[in-house]
Order: sequence, then structure tokens, then C-alpha cells
Amino acid sequence: MSLFGEVPQATPVAVFKLSNDFKEDPNPMKVNLGVGAYRTDEGQPWVLPVVKKVEKLIVADNRLNHEYLPILGLPEFRSSASKIALGEDSPAIQENRVGAVQCLGGTGALKMGAEFLRRWYNGNDNMKTPVYVSAPTWENHNSVFANAGFEDVRPYKYWDAEKRGLDLAGFLGDLETAPKHSIFVLHACAHNPTGTDPTHMEWTQVAEVMKRRKLFVFFDSAYQGFASGCLDKDAWAVRYFVTQGFEMFCAQSFSKNFGLYNERVGNLTIVARDADNVRRVLSQMEKIVRVTWSNPPSQGARLVAITLNTAELFAEWKDNVKTMADRVLLMRASLQAKLQALGTPGTWDHITQQIAKQVEYMIKERSIYLMASGRINMCGLTTKNIDYVAKSIHETVV
Ligand code: PMP
Repeated sequence: MSLFGEVPQATPVAVFKLSNDFKEDPNPMKVNLGVGAYRTDEGQPWVLPVVKKVEKLIVADNRLNHEYLPILGLPEFRSSASKIALGEDSPAIQENRVGAVQCLGGTGALKMGAEFLRRWYNGNDNMKTPVYVSAPTWENHNSVFANAGFEDVRPYKYWDAEKRGLDLAGFLGDLETAPKHSIFVLHACAHNPTGTDPTHMEWTQVAEVMKRRKLFVFFDSAYQGFASGCLDKDAWAVRYFVTQGFEMFCAQSFSKNFGLYNERVGNLTIVARDADNVRRVLSQMEKIVRVTWSNPPSQGARLVAITLNTAELFAEWKDNVKTMADRVLLMRASLQAKLQALGTPGTWDHITQQIAKQVEYMIKERSIYLMASGRINMCGLTTKNIDYVAKSIHETVV
């Protein structure tokens, strides 16, 4: 009898299971619209040209070694990453009230932020502090906050299925009724899974209520540059909240916009009232990192720091980001055009009521792999498979 005999089998992580099923499918027409990773029009992963270049610089640099990094990470990575989020001329940076923690991907940044808030935010009973995540959201939001000890993770209204857009009234209503000091996880741009972001006007309304009701802003910025092709445009909401005087967290992932998925490059940017607050927060962050991963890995952080801190490489990276964003936008527009041309019914009611059955049909009968929510990764589309996908969606929905 094994000591592990009583361990129950956990359910697989949906998105990774989907990829495995895809890999094993012999159908030559198969398409993976599941995992959120960029693919070229040939359906292949893309190592950004700027990344290849900087990797060579790192290998050639004899001054570098494999000593431990500081607990909070590579200083030039942390500061340049925060600058990307807050803007070159951010008043908060100039006023010395921004700090950062290098983390293991965007997930690590959310985790560090959640662990800190559970320990230090909103008094002694803070595990009771509600954490609000959008309905729907990236499924890991719920678990990361619950695993950090928050007992009350709730959804806030976000998506209006009927009108197929943002449920602004519902969102604002939940902000109005949330207990004071509640934590709100906001998607900085390219909302996962709906792809719908508030407009500038809508963000200003959200900020107004959050400020008045003393709610905590925790941005999740996993796709900066991917929504519009422009880093500054995609950071508009984060920067606007800073101008409104919020103390806040912003979890940044460089997995997508640098294509560094397996290097685990993330940053938690902290904006506080003044330098003294930042100092004390970082001192506690150091304790949390120490018992979690002790100190972070260097390769991805070096790569990002060199790129962001060298003018020509920075320009080249922005160009690479735009290449990826443009392909995503093009695929979205062509899929829409093709479905319109086919006359595919667009009433969401029809789709949501039968979504589970339709997803199953797409996978089993068409070898087109997508998440049970119906979310599809636009990068999985290519000029070669888009007709097949559009036709299959059409036949599944009608
Ligand atoms: N937040 C959201 C909304 C995401 O979609 C993702 C990645 N799928 C992450 C955070 C985490 O990214 P990372 O892989 O860098 O941990």
C-alpha cells in the first residue's frame, strides 16, 4: 500500500489537455484554437527576431555569470518593465513612488500580489476581503487568489451576452455595491476571454466609482501591445488610473509580447503614495519571494531588460509586437467577413444555449480544438485554415 494510495486524481488543466488531444489527432485538417500562444501564418511558434539578436548578445557577453539575482530580481528589468506599463514620463516614476518585483510570468506576479494583499492589506480579517474577478475571466484568476488564502473570490458583471459587448451598467453596479476596500482584478487590455475592453470613457466611469468607493485596483496586463499593436495605447487604462491617484498593483506578463512563454518573465509593478510606502511594501515582498522561489531566473529578464534599455532594440521589438498584433487583427477581421459571407447566424443566444454541444462537435467532427467557453485563439488561424474553420463554425451553428 503506497503512502500516496489515498491521493485523488486531479482533473487536468483544460487548456493543456486540449493541446495534448490536438497533438494526438491524426486529422491533417486539424486546427488548434485553444492555447493562447502566437503562431505564424504557417502555424508555427515564432521566436521574435529581436529576441534571437539579444540572445546572441547575452551569450557573447563575458561579464555575465550565473550568480543568484537579488531576491526582488534584476533591477534594470524591474524598472524598465514598470516604465513600459506606466509610461516613459510617468509622474509616479518621477516622484519615486513606484516599485517592482520580478516574478515568474504574469501568473507569478498575480501570485505575489495576492500573497502580499492577503498578509498586509485591509486589516486583520483580510482573508475575508472580497476579491472580484470579471465574469467571465481567465480561469486561473479565481484559483490564484483562493490559493493565496482569500476566502471570498466573486465575479463582477462584465460581459453582456445579449448585446454581445461590455455590460457597463452591471459592472458599475457591482462596483457600487462591493464592500469598501474590496479588491478588483481588471484586465488592462485584450480582455481574456471576451476580447472586449472598456472604452476610455467607460474606464473613466469605472475609475470614478472605484475611487469614491475605495476599491483596490489590481491590473492584470498580459497582452500589452497585442490589442492595438501599440504599447502606449494598450496601457491607457493603467496610466489613467495612475493619474487619478490610485495606489495599485499591475501584474505584467512578457510571455506573449516577447514570445517568452517558457522563460517565465513577469513583473509586479507597485504604485504607492510615496517612496516610504514603496520601501516598506518591497521589504515585505522580499520575505514572500524568499519563501516562494527565493530568487528569480535571469535569462528572460536579461533579455527583456537589454531590449527595453537599448533604443534600436526597443524600436525593433515594438515592430515585432506590431507584426503579431496585425496578424491577430487581420485573422479576426477575415473570420468575421467569412462568417458574414456564409450568413452564419450571429445571435449569441443560439450559441450560448448550445455551446457545450457545439464545442464538442467542432472537436470531434472537425478536429478544431477550442475551449469549452467557446473562446478561440485568433493566432491559431492562418490564411490556409481560415476557410475550413469558418465553414466548420457555420455548419456547427446553423
Ligand atoms: N493573465 C491573463 C489574462 C492571461 O491570459 C495569462 C496567460 N494566459 C496570464 C495572466 C499569465 O501569463 P503567464 O504565462 O506570463 O504566467
